[in-house]
Amino acid sequence: MKKITIAIDGFSSTGKSTLAKQIANHLGYVYVDTGAMYRAVTYFAMQHGYITAELFDKENLILALPSIKLEFHFNPSLGFAEMYLNGVNVETEIRTIEVSNFVSKIAEVSQVRAKLVEQQQQMGQGKGIVMDGRDIGTVVFPDAELKIFMTASPETRAQRRFDELQSKGQNVSYEDVLKNVQERDYIDTNRADSPLVKAENAIEIDNSHLTREEQFELVLDLVNHRIN
Ligand code: C5P
Repeated sequence: MKKITIAIDGFSSTGKSTLAKQIANHLGYVYVDTGAMYRAVTYFAMQHGYITAELFDKENLILALPSIKLEFHFNPSLGFAEMYLNGVNVETEIRTIEVSNFVSKIAEVSQVRAKLVEQQQQMGQGKGIVMDGRDIGTVVFPDAELKIFMTASPETRAQRRFDELQSKGQNVSYEDVLKNVQERDYIDTNRADSPLVKAENAIEIDNSHLTREEQFELVLDLVNHRIN
């Protein structure tokens, strides 16, 4: 069967990764969460003191980039690939609100983007891939056969992220999560390099009022249309 490239972009907490995983599992495709890569670089920068509430030492982060090795290792019991930073599983560490608060600043740095985009393009060489992020349909795979752009209201998205963090035992307030979602939306859509925009030929899905199943069926139809 013909293999295609599926690019899923959109605002934070729109359920991109849930949809991408469902589609990848159904088709037997590889799923790549590019947000995890930006989060891992952010975690690295925090560990080395390159970014704190007071400072952002961009120059030294850029110098340290060659020493950052990012890998995904598939975890069969979870059914998806986990993020490894220099050989260490950082899947839990990269999902904290602290990392979320810094990640969009790290993602503004062109040298960081260039490194990650190159790795993402290599991963997609053989097609049969579902990748989610902010610039997948515009920059990473401008020729993707199917591009989806996902949106939902900030309140719906903050509630989803809040529920997710709570279920993981993280003690955060809804207000803090909403503030983080709005700040990241602003930085992600206004940055100079690869801002979050809907690709011209992307199909927009507002899933504020769609169930996971409805959304999956909708996208699966689009996929089948492209494959056949
Ligand atoms: O998808 P997730 O919310 O985990 O992404 C975290 C952050 O990483 C985003 O808010 C954005 O700043 C950055 N990002 C990006 N480009 C991507 C994926 C994520 O700039 N392709």
